[in-house]
Amino acid sequence: MKKQPIYLDYAATTPVDPSVVEAMSQCLMLDGNFANPASRSHRYGWQAEEAVENARRQVADLIGADPREVVWTSGATESDNLAIKGAALANKERGQHLITSMIEHKAVLDCFAWLEQEGFVVTYLQPSAEGMIHPDQVRDALREDTILVSLMHVNNELGTVTDVAEVGALCRERGVLFHVDAAQSAGKFPIDVMAMNIDLLSVCAHKIYGPKGVGALYVRRRPPLSIAAQIHGGGHERGYRSGTLATHQCVGMGAAFELAGQQRKGDAERISRLSMLLADGLQTLGGVVFHGDQTSKWPGILNVGFQCVDGEHLLFALKDIAVSSGSACTSASVEPSYVLTAIGVPPSLAHSSLRFSIGRFTTQDDISQTLDIVGNVLEQLSRLSS
Ligand SMILES: *Cc1c(COP(=O)(O)O)cnc(C)c1O
Repeated sequence: MKKQPIYLDYAATTPVDPSVVEAMSQCLMLDGNFANPASRSHRYGWQAEEAVENARRQVADLIGADPREVVWTSGATESDNLAIKGAALANKERGQHLITSMIEHKAVLDCFAWLEQEGFVVTYLQPSAEGMIHPDQVRDALREDTILVSLMHVNNELGTVTDVAEVGALCRERGVLFHVDAAQSAGKFPIDVMAMNIDLLSVCAHKIYGPKGVGALYVRRRPPLSIAAQIHGGGHERGYRSGTLATHQCVGMGAAFELAGQQRKGDAERISRLSMLLADGLQTLGGVVFHGDQTSKWPGILNVGFQCVDGEHLLFALKDIAVSSGSACTSASVEPSYVLTAIGVPPSLAHSSLRFSIGRFTTQDDISQTLDIVGNVLEQLSRLSS
């Protein structure tokens, strides 16, 4: 078998932690917890319900919520849809104005684009050249008819961090709902929805060593708020999200979140050390630019522009390293990343930019090999162009 490329794309998804796989596998077969958690008439159902409720508490504990405030979904995309469309539609009598930023995930931006078609007015905050959204920008954008602010905690391309506590305080003071997309930050940065005055918070399992296909939306209970359900059916999840709960998925997410809470500090220290090693090594190769604020970001994400090399050549030559590129293929063409574009990175540099993302299973050996490979490739490419 051919050797697999070095996996440095943890911001796209993570492998599932072995202990999480073990917990999930107990919820599939006849001798396990396979039943429908909504079955009320037999013990199989009660046991599945207990497993799901235990997992709900594990998710709640990591974000400082009450378990009754956690709504299961299929992932952060669905959580974003439920939060943003649900809050806007349920509160449209109070106002039509919404605030977000230009560097949100597509799951957020596309919800706002749809709401604009429905007659809402959206302000898209412009990030600084360092990829930062400042709370003062939110303060300046708030209007009498603003009903919702939605900002991500950690940016998935840059790793930059928004001061959500300060934005939360601002919004609470003005009676405006505040949604946070925490898909990249849950389990990496401390989150306390109460202390941070967050009303709605999207999370998923697969960015933090849980399975793909499951997520949750935190919906504040006190004071109560209204969001409109986006999926209708049997009235599961207090009517917010119908559909039979996937016991194994919920259990996997709960286990991954509890583990993340236990390992957060240790993981962050290791990842920070490896990230520094990678950054220093790339720096000595020369001709590199680090995108986004480097002082306060999540160290697991390193977005690097390689000057003077062609983006397509770069990604092709780097087939032994699994990373994301600063370009996105649309149906028609290859477009530079809208996040890099929003912070003023010229298209040519965006095309020759790579996002390295490091995680729990990255080793020091992975980093030294990566530096060797990148060094060799840059040398080859420079010979090619001279
Ligand atoms: C991955 C991601 C999403 C989408 O989450 P899914 O669970 O894959 O639907 C949304 N927002 C951010 C910031 C992400 O990183």
